[in-house]
Amino acid sequence: MRPVRPTLRVLRHLNRADFNDPTVVDIVAQAAAATKDQAKALLELVSLSGLTHPLLDDAETRFRDGGMPDRHKASTKTHRAAIYEVRDRVGAAWRGAVALDEHGDPWLVYADTHDEFHDSAPVALRRTITSGKVDRSVWEPSPLDYRIRERDDAERAKREFLFALLHQMLEGLGALLTTGEPVKLTSPEYWEEEDPRSLDYTLSVEHDEPAASPAHANTTTSSLDVAISLSSGNAYVRDQLINAAVVFLQPDKNLRSQDYRTDGTLVLSVMLTHAHLAALLAEVESTGGRVDLSPPAPTHRHYLAKDDKIRSFVDGGAVVALCGHAYVVSEGENADLPICGTCESVEPVAQDLLDRIRELNARTR
Ligand SMILES: [Zn+2]
Repeated sequence: MRPVRPTLRVLRHLNRADFNDPTVVDIVAQAAAATKDQAKALLELVSLSGLTHPLLDDAETRFRDGGMPDRHKASTKTHRAAIYEVRDRVGAAWRGAVALDEHGDPWLVYADTHDEFHDSAPVALRRTITSGKVDRSVWEPSPLDYRIRERDDAERAKREFLFALLHQMLEGLGALLTTGEPVKLTSPEYWEEEDPRSLDYTLSVEHDEPAASPAHANTTTSSLDVAISLSSGNAYVRDQLINAAVVFLQPDKNLRSQDYRTDGTLVLSVMLTHAHLAALLAEVESTGGRVDLSPPAPTHRHYLAKDDKIRSFVDGGAVVALCGHAYVVSEGENADLPICGTCESVEPVAQDLLDRIRELNARTR
């Protein structure tokens, strides 16, 4: 079952202050008062994906693992279909009505204060029958509600795909550093028009002689190649590899280049300092995830949990590093940043990497 989603109409009815992101509610309210064209432009900006409210949270808890909230009997009777009651336990003690649409998906369709809900919900949600046909109540999801949901779903699929791609790339990088051999990968599947699409690519690397110690790991470099066969695979996946995944690996465009081989393979090359490579490979325990602030541009490279690293790049939020520093991945990043000594003292990732590179270089020379 899909997560419980509020209709635009119920959004305008609830207290804006109870939402985690009241600006979404403001845009929906502006759109309702605007001309048709203005409303269309405004609603292009709206995503309900990350929106939370105590009534939605309660609904989510009650529907979790196949459960069902209690039916609201009076509304179920007038609506001629099940209406489930959800409750706001922390805020102003509002009550909400959840209905399942014809596909079985739950929508928060109505809400009112706890002292009014019992009387107002059955009236608002009443469905009348005119000459044998059931009339819908105005509170039910509209075509616009479905259009915005469809857009939110598409956006989410894209973010999930990028997340999976970056995850795979970091895993591939780890494997590459372990064996020294090129790593062949098939990208995660991106679903397009009901079809899963993917792309094959290969990672390979060449290391310069590594620095003597982690403190100087920002002075020596490796060159990483991402080779993509252009004759096969999906255009969107290719675009994400070129314009997102490689940028994730090296935000500084001066250290990225691309070239074509005679067989039509596109090779994206990035230069990475060994400090940078260590920060990419670091896989520390999550240290508290996302934080709600804008930290200054980093002066050192810190070690992050893999998921934090990717999420910060994809969503743009700050995350907490192993040493406790808050950090936004890629933002204002200077390619030459040295390793954070505190992070390295907790987990000697750079030392391990330098040793590893020395070993790999010795083997191939
Ligand atoms: Zn640190």
